[in-house]
Amino acid sequence: MSFALSSAAAASVARVSSKATLRGRSLRARSKATRPVRAMAVKAEVNQLKDGDKKGLVDSVETFIFDCDGVIWKGDSLIEGVPETIAMLRDMGKRLIFVTNNSTKSRAGYLKKFLGLGLEITAEEVFSSSFAAAAYLESVNFPKDKKVYVVGEVGILEELDGVGIQYLGGEADGDKKVTLSAGQLMEHDPDVAAVIVGFDRNVNYYKIQYATLCIRENPGCQFIATNTDAVTHLTDAQEWAGNGSMVGAIKGSTKREPTVVGKPAPFMLDYIANKFDIRKDQICMVGDRLDTDILFGKDGGLRTLLVLSGVTDEATLKSPENEIHPDYYTSKLADLLTIKASVNA
Ligand SMILES: [Mg+2]
Repeated sequence: MSFALSSAAAASVARVSSKATLRGRSLRARSKATRPVRAMAVKAEVNQLKDGDKKGLVDSVETFIFDCDGVIWKGDSLIEGVPETIAMLRDMGKRLIFVTNNSTKSRAGYLKKFLGLGLEITAEEVFSSSFAAAAYLESVNFPKDKKVYVVGEVGILEELDGVGIQYLGGEADGDKKVTLSAGQLMEHDPDVAAVIVGFDRNVNYYKIQYATLCIRENPGCQFIATNTDAVTHLTDAQEWAGNGSMVGAIKGSTKREPTVVGKPAPFMLDYIANKFDIRKDQICMVGDRLDTDILFGKDGGLRTLLVLSGVTDEATLKSPENEIHPDYYTSKLADLLTIKASVNA
């Protein structure tokens, strides 16, 4: 793997992730006095994708970046009409890229999932935040004699293996318990030079303490978050605490802000644009979340299409509280299929 993007990408992570964080916060922190003005502006900015807009939107871009959960699938079920829509876009010569903030699988793991669902895609077309974490460390020339401590699942471990970076933690520490006795202290490896925090269904106090010791006591130790999503959809019955909760634990104990590599931070976008040599204004980001997918697209200068087949409903989109407005919104990806019908008519 080569990472020509390196320093530019690293710089942009720091620069724009803080901007994204600030914008995310502004959703709640904005003073009430400004809201009526915003509310009036919202109505004009929220555009439902009409049949007459579809061909123009598709023709105006050469690449589509799709979020996965809520756009392509829900849990382990494909969303209606996705295979046909993907096939249509491929026939139209579009480049298709699939991006996910979920770090529990590696790119190879996601490829298996796509193929298992009957979607013919290639490994090159998949970008997960687990991959982004490993790619980021490689882009900053992470020393091969140093190690990473992982709060997270197998996806991150597989991606670190892929770039030859040593690690500890992750699944191996899933069952560890802290039992305290007088004068006890936890040892930690002084060669840990980065902590990656990703979604971890076996997070525990041992991992939190170990990660905290590395960040606080190893000079220069980096703190990397695959993403800071507040919630995730482990089942379709309710929202579950997302990686924001794991990152929040480490932020709380270290008083440090992480470098975020997943959406809405720009690292993956810069990486993809550089790898495929694509102009950002010729990319359309399709996602189901405003504060990750659509913000990622808007901050990056992409066209944006929100689908209502995932976490965002129309009321949330049109709420005066919402300040993140996609270029268009539609109920599901397969709504684009009417282009085909009109071409064939
Ligand atoms: Mg999603």
